Amino acid sequence: MNADKRREIFTRLRAANEKPTTELEYTTPFELLIAVLLSAQATDVGVNKATRKLYPVANTPAKIFALGVEGLMPYIQTIGLYKTKAKNVIATCQILLEQHGGEVPRTREALEALPGVGRKTANVVLNTAFGEPTIAVDTHIFRVSNRTGIAPGKNVDIVEQKLLKFVPAEFKLDAHHWLILHGRYTCIARKPQCWNCIIADLCEYKAKTPLPAKGV
Ligand code: SF4
Repeated sequence: MNADKRREIFTRLRAANEKPTTELEYTTPFELLIAVLLSAQATDVGVNKATRKLYPVANTPAKIFALGVEGLMPYIQTIGLYKTKAKNVIATCQILLEQHGGEVPRTREALEALPGVGRKTANVVLNTAFGEPTIAVDTHIFRVSNRTGIAPGKNVDIVEQKLLKFVPAEFKLDAHHWLILHGRYTCIARKPQCWNCIIADLCEYKAKTPLPAKGV
């Protein structure tokens, strides 16, 4: 894909949604960190349901740490892998309290050192809470980048490197959210809605889906 097409794709995605953001609900970097940590292999809707109950009770490292694993689990038990996540959240809170003065660190190294926090979670926090032009590649971004040809790659690391290289600077801060939302609602995994896609004429996917017949 050439640079002009990429620029036009992001120009259109921006025109359709000028201020994109995460669908996870949060009010502080810490709330975002915990929500992203809980969202692995879970939906944002499911995580929001849990944090709407949890955060009014406990939304700081000290308060969640005070709940302990047993006290935290009832709030998040509707989320997949909740037992492991509860342990990771409590361990993360402990490190934030002991090593970071109860604050969420702003460096990738410190974030990735937290239990349950991998590169993707660190990227989301750096981007969404701290305004860094990082691009966290999740399943949606991986799929959209490959189908369209914006940044094709065999694994998420290659796609991330290509996106960082090829996405024009003016779009980098929000590229993560535009691509996720496009993948979640239009370029859907099982059946992309190519007939309803605002970048269909620019996308290089060879198996674009036609408009379904009425009643299908
Ligand atoms: S045209 Fe189809 S494959 Fe290409 S981005 Fe749009 S929905 Fe995805």
